[in-house]
Amino acid sequence: MSEIYNKGLLIVISGPSGAGKGTVCKELMKKYNYNISISATTRSPREGEVDGVNYHFLDKKSFEEKLSRDEFLEYAQVYGNYYGTLKKGVEDELNKGNNIILEIDIQGTLQVQKVYKNAVYIFLLPPSINELKNRILKRGSETESSFNLRFSSVGEELKYMNSYDYAVINDDLDSAVEKVHSIINTEMNRISRMNLDKFLEEYIF
Ligand code: 5GP
Repeated sequence: MSEIYNKGLLIVISGPSGAGKGTVCKELMKKYNYNISISATTRSPREGEVDGVNYHFLDKKSFEEKLSRDEFLEYAQVYGNYYGTLKKGVEDELNKGNNIILEIDIQGTLQVQKVYKNAVYIFLLPPSINELKNRILKRGSETESSFNLRFSSVGEELKYMNSYDYAVINDDLDSAVEKVHSIINTEMNRISRMNLDKFLEEYIF
């Protein structure tokens, strides 16, 4: 693989809160062994979340220090907390020829798009507004004010859908996972992403 590809492929999965980004990414990791970037955040861990596995949980001061040292590829304040992707982890993986998925919000995606023009941008959509409400409520960790905050930003977030390459409706987890997997496979076969010179040398003489 590394002979055909000079670098790994960066895949960004984004969409409104409640679209199921986290669940789809977990499944992609479980089923197909995808590499998912671990973000840093200042929000507190939810029950069952582990530092260094789900997120790098940082206090505000450490996050801001990393910000001032320009260590983030992108960052955003989402619902009152900082979230960000560290440059180093992503660059190292891509340079090793490994693909990596970022599961980030829309503000973060707009920043990544300025740096990585060749990444694959996938927008995940909930099947309906009612289902979206249910999903946000079902998390259990949401207070009424955090629910309102998440729900009220959805309309604004959907306006950015056109700056993505693909939209996947997450009505059924398995089929959403298969769609994302096949998008990635298709993108891996784009001639412009491949380094085919060596391969062609054997045929052209
Ligand atoms: P949660 O608190 O539910 O884990 O995540 C809240 C939101 O933050 C989700 O929309 C999630 O995609 C987004 N998010 C998680 N990590 C990052 C990150 O590194 N950067 C950005 N911009 N958003 C993130």
